[in-house]
Formats: sequence, structure tokens, C-alpha cells
Amino acid sequence: MMNIKSIPSGFHQIQRHDGIFQEQVHDAYKARGKLPEPTVCPQCNAVFHEGGWRWGDAPANAHRAICPACHRMQDHYPAGFLTLSGEFFSTHRDEIMHLVRNHEQSERAEHPLQRIMAVEEIGGEVLVTTTDIHLARGIGEALHHAYRGDLEYHYNPAENLLRVHWTH
Ligand SMILES: [Zn+2]
Repeated sequence: MMNIKSIPSGFHQIQRHDGIFQEQVHDAYKARGKLPEPTVCPQCNAVFHEGGWRWGDAPANAHRAICPACHRMQDHYPAGFLTLSGEFFSTHRDEIMHLVRNHEQSERAEHPLQRIMAVEEIGGEVLVTTTDIHLARGIGEALHHAYRGDLEYHYNPAENLLRVHWTH
């Protein structure tokens, strides 16, 4: 079994307020050129218009294409990896996982591409994978804001992947 703490090649540590978090980089995962507008995702019904994916109604004749988040879920190819560990985490796990889920729900309500893909337990630690790097970062920030602890980011610029470690 892989060690979730090991940092794969291609990642380097970045600061919590790194500029990449301000950029609105469009997730180009599996994108084949520019999408016509409006486009609707047949799996989640998100609509691409005005240059981004939103929730809303699409006309019946809208172009159809799978959105990057549904593509990532289908391929089991996350953009964000968040590991949660430590003694405080172990003893407050239910409460902390509740916060994680709540944060996802409020982000996803606004941003269709920000979703949790899976929550896996590996040797007493929890790995949360996400369809978008901003969600992994946002959950890390929310945990740090609520409980402090140690928060670290490693970024892979070539593939726009983010690993977040929160330990407490
Ligand atoms: Zn979709």
C-alpha cells in the first residue's frame, strides 16, 4: 500500500498564500478545444457559459459534453489530495469529517467543479481526494482556521495537482 505522506516527484512545497491560489486556471482536464456555449454536462447537469461551469438551466438544444469534474471522477484522477492525521484528528474525527463535508457542500453549491471524489482510510490517516485544487486548499484552510494544527502544501505545476497535509 502506498504511503500517503510520501511526496511523489513533480511536487514542490509552496506557501499557504502562494499566487497559484489566486489564479483562476480553467481545468483543462480532457478538454478538446474550446467548448461552445451553452454546453451541458449530461452527468451532473452543470452548464458551461460565459467561460465557466455553473449550476443552472440549459436550453434543450445545448451542446453536450462531460465536465472536467465528472471526467476526473470517471477516471479516478483527482486534482487535489488532502491527508488528515494526528492524535487530535483521531479523537475528533467525526466532528472534523463533518466540517470537511460541510465545506465541500457549500463550495459545490457555488462551483460545480469543486467536489470530493473519495474519502479513504489508510493506516489510521484519512485521504480525501477532490476534483479541484481549490477545494483541497479550502478544506485545509477551514480546518486550520477551526483547529489550528500544521498545514502544508505541495504543488505539481506540470499537471496542476495539489497535495495538502493537515496534521494535528
Ligand atoms: Zn459533470
